[in-house]
Amino acid sequence: MSVRFVIDSLDFVRNARVHHGKIPLVELTRLQSYLFDSRGELMFAVSGSFDEHNKPMLQIVVKGEMNLCCQRCLGKLVHTLDLQSCLILVNDEEELDQYDDDDTVDGILATSDMDVLQLIEDEIILNLSISSRHQENECSIESRVAADKEMSTHPFAKLAGLKKTH
Ligand SMILES: [Zn+2]
Repeated sequence: MSVRFVIDSLDFVRNARVHHGKIPLVELTRLQSYLFDSRGELMFAVSGSFDEHNKPMLQIVVKGEMNLCCQRCLGKLVHTLDLQSCLILVNDEEELDQYDDDDTVDGILATSDMDVLQLIEDEIILNLSISSRHQENECSIESRVAADKEMSTHPFAKLAGLKKTH
C-alpha cells in the first residue's frame, strides 16, 4: 500500500483526535479479490474516545460505493458501504481474549504504530463476507439455473415445442 496513515493509538485516544480522509479503492490491495473493478474511493473517519467504562476506543466510519464481484455469478454487484465500528484498545492478549467472547464489541491490541488504513481494510473485509452476493432476483446465475431446471423437468415438452416450430 502506497498510502499509509499510522497513529500511536493510545495517544490518539487521549488527545481525542479525529482524522478524516479518502482512500482510493486501488490502494486496498487485500480487498481486490472481492472487487469487480477498483474504481472509486471511500471516505473514512477515525476518532479516538473513551467508552462508558472509560476504556480507550477507536471509532471507525467508512462510506462509499464499490463494485463487488458477486460470489455466485461473478458479475458486477454495486455495493454501498456504510460501516461503523468501535474497537476497544487493549493492552495484552489476555484482555483481547475477553473481547473475542463478546459479539457486541471488538478488541484490538493497542500499539504505538497502528496502521489505520490496514485496520479499515480489515473492517471492510469482515463486513463484506456476509453481503457479497446479488439478491436472488438480481443474480444472473439464478435465471440460468431456472432455465436449466425447466429444461430438465420438461425435456420432452421442450423437444415437442421445438418440433412444432421447425
Ligand atoms: Zn450474482
